[in-house]
Amino acid sequence: MAESNAPSANTQTSSLSVPKSDEATRSLSLATRVVHADDPMNSYADVAPALHVSTTFRYTSDPAKLNPPNDDEPPPHLPGGPISSDAHIYSRETAPNASRLELILSSLLQAPCLTYSSGLAAFHALLVHVNPRVVAIGNGYHGCHGVLKVYQKLTGCKIVDLFDTATWQNKEEGWKLGAGDVVHLESPVNPTGKAFNVAHFAQLAHERQAVLTIDATFAPPPLLDPFKWGADYVMHSGTKYFGGHSDMLCGVLAVSKRDAATWEKRYWELFHERVYLGSVMGSMEAWLGVRSLRTLELRVLRQSQNATLLVQFLHACLTGTEISPGARAVARVVAVLEHASLQHLDDPDAAGWLREQMPHGFGSVFALHTHSPAHARALPSKLHLFHHATSLGGVESLIEWRRMSDSTVAETLCRVSVGVEDWRDLRDDLVQACEALVRDEDRLEEPEITYQY
Ligand SMILES: *Cc1c(COP(=O)(O)O)cnc(C)c1O
Repeated sequence: MAESNAPSANTQTSSLSVPKSDEATRSLSLATRVVHADDPMNSYADVAPALHVSTTFRYTSDPAKLNPPNDDEPPPHLPGGPISSDAHIYSRETAPNASRLELILSSLLQAPCLTYSSGLAAFHALLVHVNPRVVAIGNGYHGCHGVLKVYQKLTGCKIVDLFDTATWQNKEEGWKLGAGDVVHLESPVNPTGKAFNVAHFAQLAHERQAVLTIDATFAPPPLLDPFKWGADYVMHSGTKYFGGHSDMLCGVLAVSKRDAATWEKRYWELFHERVYLGSVMGSMEAWLGVRSLRTLELRVLRQSQNATLLVQFLHACLTGTEISPGARAVARVVAVLEHASLQHLDDPDAAGWLREQMPHGFGSVFALHTHSPAHARALPSKLHLFHHATSLGGVESLIEWRRMSDSTVAETLCRVSVGVEDWRDLRDDLVQACEALVRDEDRLEEPEITYQY
């Protein structure tokens, strides 16, 4: 769409700064865009954006300029573009802080974005929007399966296994995955952090005119760009890395512009549906989100690097490459590690596409399986730097005995979300925790000694 269609800049703005247009910021690098993509929405002299809590906004005082909106027409801004500060009406439609967040996210994901009250609210909105009869989905985050069950209750849709070859053979009775259906891939996947070949699933979906939706929560930019590999919609639980500080719920949907004829219509449809689903972000959360995105690249790259270094160290303990008393304790507690950085060992094929699709590093969540369920249950209690808590993506490292929030996983599984701390401190903490577990175990096994006085 032509630049001239953009809403005219607020008159206050022009005297304070020269806001860069959407086009002008697009050529900047990611680290710069997360700091400046929202400059066109600067209406005041504040360097740090203000928090606007109002739910309702005054109309113009000039009766001649009162233009009742037409429900069939899009609002006067570009999809994912800046919204002038006098264009807000009611915060279930648009509000200053959430619009600013969407402007940055749209620049970050290079596709128009909408935000939601949570990741699951975004997934719900996506299903309502695409309205599929068949949904192919893998294991992944259990909450998305919960949302899908709600959608199934309303629509009677068919849910099939993404990884079952029967899904792709079109041999089943009574259903066939086809036009308008959804292929939903989570990559990297919860809780293991292993990645999937997005291009492969794009091909499977598109051969059948189905829509490929990617839950890329575990690999925010700059780690993975699912659009580059064929995604039609990208979803994020912004609660995780976009928020990054374990203090806000947020969901994000981004619409691919690949289909030039339909993307705008689909964006506005999502926009209007959100008005009626009512699942908008709160202004406080959106304000926190903007503050968080400023450091996204710093955090994500550091966390990614930390996780890979930790996994490499633990792997070396298990294979005997690392030899120290601490390494022996790790090997007595930890049986198996799962993470994208180890994937090429089991699947030589992965080495190629994985490096290509995730050139800047892997996600910062990995899984470890302990030798016994008792180890997995007790390991978090021995750690000092990892909080025992669910969720992921925050600056602070977390570990979770995953049975506490997902009944479908093995009792030996701990999920680790690596934060921004120095990885060597995290490594030492993991080692001392394994040593403490081993010490406890040896103490229990010691024969009782009777002392004679
Ligand atoms: C957390 C998470 C969700 C759900 O997001 P909420 O913001 O908690 O609603 C969806 N998908 C994945 C992969 C997640 O990690």
